[in-house]
Amino acid sequence: MNKTVDVLWTGGWDSTFRVIQLLFQGIDVKPHYICDPGRASSPLEISAMNRISDSLKRNPELKGALLPLTIVEFSDFTKYNDIEKAYIDLMREHYIGEQYKWIADYCRHANLESIDISVQNNPFIRRNHSRTDYPFSVIFKGLNFPLINYSKNDMKKWCIDNGFLSIIEESWFCHSPTRSGKPCGVCSPCIVVSEEGMGYRLPTSAIIRYHLRVLPRVKSFLKNYPKFYARLYRLKSK
Ligand SMILES: [Zn+2]
Repeated sequence: MNKTVDVLWTGGWDSTFRVIQLLFQGIDVKPHYICDPGRASSPLEISAMNRISDSLKRNPELKGALLPLTIVEFSDFTKYNDIEKAYIDLMREHYIGEQYKWIADYCRHANLESIDISVQNNPFIRRNHSRTDYPFSVIFKGLNFPLINYSKNDMKKWCIDNGFLSIIEESWFCHSPTRSGKPCGVCSPCIVVSEEGMGYRLPTSAIIRYHLRVLPRVKSFLKNYPKFYARLYRLKSK
């Protein structure tokens, strides 16, 4: 019987990479998704995970089994006072996102021994996640960071070498999608995608928004050409 690993799957590039990597190693994956109440992108993340799951289940290279996705609403799991207190004490030393507190709550609530969190390129987490002193021990107890020493390029190269690039590119990255469900081009993950040379993953409308944002002078220049500007503007809000 294969070993099973619990993974927090967001539908994004990094956690999708982790899911594929484990399945490739012959490990079964139990994915969990926590709906973030502050984020408009949940339906798009879930549909990306469904599409990716279909592709992964058909892939003969993957020896591990992908178990059904558990979707939990933020309001559905217990928030523990001692975890809240440890989070506040940790915050006195260094800011970390509230999601780490929720994940710690969720782990205890769902009785998970550990869960893989696909954070990369975070020096604070790299230095502190395995500390056993309070408050780190409370927040990071069940949280594994298997990709903490990976770069996006390492992951991309692995995907190209093993034939998974087209699957991982189905992952969702934008935090504030347009009404028609396309990446916005201006939120931080969209900017990261552009800056990492993966701008081809953005639709034209998002690329225009990205350039208008980072080059405000282009915008004032374009205002001298109102018809052209209006055309771009219409494209931008598609
Ligand atoms: Zn975006």
